[in-house]
Amino acid sequence: MNKNSTILDNTLTLLEKIEPVISNELKQEIIRKKGWRTRFAPSPTGFLHIGHAFAALIGWQIANQNPEKFLLRIDDLDFTRCSQKYVNQLISDLKWLDINWTANELYQSQRLSHYSRALQYLFDKDLIYPCYLSRSELTEFLSPPIEGISKQPNTRQSLSSQVIAKRQQKGIKPVLRLDMKKAIQKVGSISWLNIDGTSLKAEPGKFGDIILGRRDITASYHLSVVLDDAQSNIEVVTRGEDLRHSTDIHCLLQNLLDLPSPIYFHHPLIFGEDGNKLSKRHKSPSLVDLRNYKETLNKILNTKMLNDN
Ligand code: GLU
Repeated sequence: MNKNSTILDNTLTLLEKIEPVISNELKQEIIRKKGWRTRFAPSPTGFLHIGHAFAALIGWQIANQNPEKFLLRIDDLDFTRCSQKYVNQLISDLKWLDINWTANELYQSQRLSHYSRALQYLFDKDLIYPCYLSRSELTEFLSPPIEGISKQPNTRQSLSSQVIAKRQQKGIKPVLRLDMKKAIQKVGSISWLNIDGTSLKAEPGKFGDIILGRRDITASYHLSVVLDDAQSNIEVVTRGEDLRHSTDIHCLLQNLLDLPSPIYFHHPLIFGEDGNKLSKRHKSPSLVDLRNYKETLNKILNTKMLNDN
């Protein structure tokens, strides 16, 4: 068996793999609720791979396979890496997986004014501040990551007002950082709800003064997803375990911005044979390649069967 056919087999047994992820209790709850409103939110910076298909199929189960409850959001804020060709292909791949949705797809790139408004709101409350430090200046402030999290520094007082004025005159744009200490003081102790009904204490403090406004694309991942999930009335956020940490930040932002908190379902990730998480970076085979491979395989098999008869 070559590598492609092994991967193809894995793809075809995806639904079986989903079984243990969606426990019997959860399945009952999905049926009782007639599905939760959820979304699949890929970034169109490459073709979808099996890990994406797995995530999308889990979301589809959470929505009880109801196209009214399943949303497709295109997280295309990073315009230097996103492309319409990937959007077209991912829509075709999702349809191939028999996943459907009725609402129009939501494009983050069309929501910049909403992100700016939220930033202005936080700025007016003195919860974010501009940081004019260059990348190399910033390295002095960074501490080594703890448990994979690099704590962002408080750089509020790092430059004198004269230096800031000079940088402004040169047209240098700042990033906007959340004043984490102030933010935590404002909301107090907060927690988010897991799909199994447990409430988990959020500890956003370990991330430090995270960036919410970026020089190039207005909003950071954290701010945009929180605003978009609220705007789309998402009831359950389904996403990979690798994003579990971010939920503490999202919970904080929901509290600061007075937004409803959805329920969270962090599903396991699919790992490649090399033990790495499937990703574009690790050159995991794309669904479209596998689809083409399957078609070729079917053609060969059909020809063979015709010849055999
Ligand atoms: N767009 C994000 C990604 O592709 C997922 C967003 C989310 O689920 O919060 O990883």
